[in-house]
Amino acid sequence: MAEIKVIHGDITKMAVDAIVNAANTSLLGGGGVDGAIHRAAGPELLAACRPLHGCATGEAKITPGFRLPAKFIIHTPGPVWQGGQRDELRLLANSYRNSLNLAAENGCHTVAFPSISTGVYHFPLSLAAPLALKTLQTAAQTTAQSVTTITIVCFDDQTQSAFETALAALSR
Ligand code: ADP
Repeated sequence: MAEIKVIHGDITKMAVDAIVNAANTSLLGGGGVDGAIHRAAGPELLAACRPLHGCATGEAKITPGFRLPAKFIIHTPGPVWQGGQRDELRLLANSYRNSLNLAAENGCHTVAFPSISTGVYHFPLSLAAPLALKTLQTAAQTTAQSVTTITIVCFDDQTQSAFETALAALSR
């Protein structure tokens, strides 16, 4: 069974098989973690993203990691929070599940995630963290059994604390 870990850190530094990018639907780069990943991976990443012609919310697409220590980058646009009545929970779960499954299909054993949609997309952390962990746990037990380690890389204390609380509740 996959181990799920929560750490504080910068996802661009992670030496794992795949990191996940909280992208936007254009896949052409943006702010936040997306901007950090594009800067660290180098201009080859934008060149690899252009022919992908974007990605729908909740879906996932893969590129090489280029100058990153990670072998692959999995790009997934999470939903923009619009109050909770626009399918946001299902779409966020789709982003986590589809990303983990795509990693497994590409032979990845170690995968790192940022907190998708809880930055400029304003998805409430208290809802996102338990939903993310439950979705990843279920996918790791069913469709993505080859994944051994899932790391949630938190960039700030508030995100880390929400994911640690959700992880403790998950293992009870
Ligand atoms: P979204 O548009 O999906 O909300 P953001 O990039 O705005 O994406 O934020 C998602 C999360 O990623 C936030 O918690 C933000 O603090 C975090 N983040 C920003 N830079 C990094 C980084 N280098 N490594 C890990 N997480 C990061």
